[in-house]
Amino acid sequence: MPENCTKCDDPIRDTTVTFEKKPYHPECFVCHQCQKKLSGKSIFQHEGHNYDEECYSECHAKKCAVCEKPLTETNVKFVVYGGEQYHKDCFTCSSCHKSLSGEKFFTEGDRRTCTECK
Ligand SMILES: [Zn+2]
Ligand SMILES: [Zn+2]
Ligand SMILES: [Zn+2]
Ligand SMILES: [Zn+2]
Repeated sequence: MPENCTKCDDPIRDTTVTFEKKPYHPECFVCHQCQKKLSGKSIFQHEGHNYDEECYSECHAKKCAVCEKPLTETNVKFVVYGGEQYHKDCFTCSSCHKSLSGEKFFTEGDRRTCTECK
């Protein structure tokens, strides 16, 4: 009597992937984000979903140092500075809030100021 897949509920006839004691078809046990198969990979869980390492780090490691929202949207430019990453619109002068992306600026502790506010 074949087991039923936890995800699609169809019987599993060939290879079974078992994760946390639940059976899946290999093609059903996929990354929540990119839908690539997870069998044989490192699996990361977040809010009840499974991710591969790539998607997990993409979603959950790279966050804007200012607003803490992930920097995952494609075509959104972001700024890397001092080991932190920022949305272009979040990387601003502490005084006038003008975007500092591509501009000269000065740092003083946590503050960044544009050349005009210096
Ligand atoms: Zn299935
Ligand atoms: Zn993925
Ligand atoms: Zn941001
Ligand atoms: Zn300024």
